[in-house]
Amino acid sequence: MHRDRRSDPDAPISRGQPCELCGQDGFQIVARRDRRGRPLESAICRTCGLLSHLRIPSDDELTDYYAREYRHDYHGEITPSAHRVVRAWNVGQRLFKLLHPFLRPDDEVFEVGAGIGCTVKAFALAGYRASGIEPSEGFQRFSREELRVRVRRCSLGDVPPSPTCDFALLVHVIEHFNHPLRSLSQIRRLMRPGGRLYVECPNVAAPHAAPGKLFHFAHVYNFTPETLLATARRAGFELVESLSRPRDLNLSMVFTMGEAREVRFEPGACERPLAAVRRYGMLSYHLRPTYFFGRLRRAASTYGDYVLAGWRMRGIVRRCQRHVAPHEDDSCRMRRAA
Ligand SMILES: [Zn+2]
Repeated sequence: MHRDRRSDPDAPISRGQPCELCGQDGFQIVARRDRRGRPLESAICRTCGLLSHLRIPSDDELTDYYAREYRHDYHGEITPSAHRVVRAWNVGQRLFKLLHPFLRPDDEVFEVGAGIGCTVKAFALAGYRASGIEPSEGFQRFSREELRVRVRRCSLGDVPPSPTCDFALLVHVIEHFNHPLRSLSQIRRLMRPGGRLYVECPNVAAPHAAPGKLFHFAHVYNFTPETLLATARRAGFELVESLSRPRDLNLSMVFTMGEAREVRFEPGACERPLAAVRRYGMLSYHLRPTYFFGRLRRAASTYGDYVLAGWRMRGIVRRCQRHVAPHEDDSCRMRRAA
């Protein structure tokens, strides 16, 4: 913002806020509009390739945004609709199947940004001690009252930094943090020795969003496999296994606790993510066969979900209320069910 770019539009600019990942202050603007055409400058760090808003919002700005605009931006509900509950339930079932090979029998599971609570419930139903935090009042209330699951209404910064969990979940949450490195470090302080962390977030290096549709105020950061891995390493996590391939729509990685360490970036580390966000012109994106069939498949499945959602949600809630494990009550801790 402080350099004359008339001679070289790609010359790095300073934004007065160092990069969260590498600490450098040289950026290149990659977009000036969000997915709805509203002004939003997105930038890539020329040293490490981390993509973010050019100006990182403060804690107060984010709190204000989530209080005023987030639901409107996402067509969200205060109380979750039946369709949302069914979708979240399916996500919880998928995550349990995916992750239970990485769990030990006595692990305490903790989800940051638990949403409606379906994922926490999936682990609780399988006999694990499982809990979570969720800042949205309506969703948190649904999880407590309907699903009978231990989800507290608070933000990560409100959780006392004592080690109480063995397996932490961060599912489509890290991209919303204004300081992901700080947040991962906070999560690490909540973990007992040997703790593991699962992170899932959109993969900006995959062709899953049309050009011009990539950026959104709520997603302060956009990760590639490389930048997610580097951020986790700097926060003191080591990769156990990547469950996603480099071109998958979502990144999906299991980490274990290690030592926080500096990460070195090769010259040109920003070129691959830069090429990824510029890969498709609008026309070539929509002409891809996978785009067309993907849309068709999603439309069919979404229609089916809506038709059956009310009936399915009632079944889910009945099942959750029948299986209230003793340790889901805040006042007691019980052994894992056989
Ligand atoms: Zn950087």
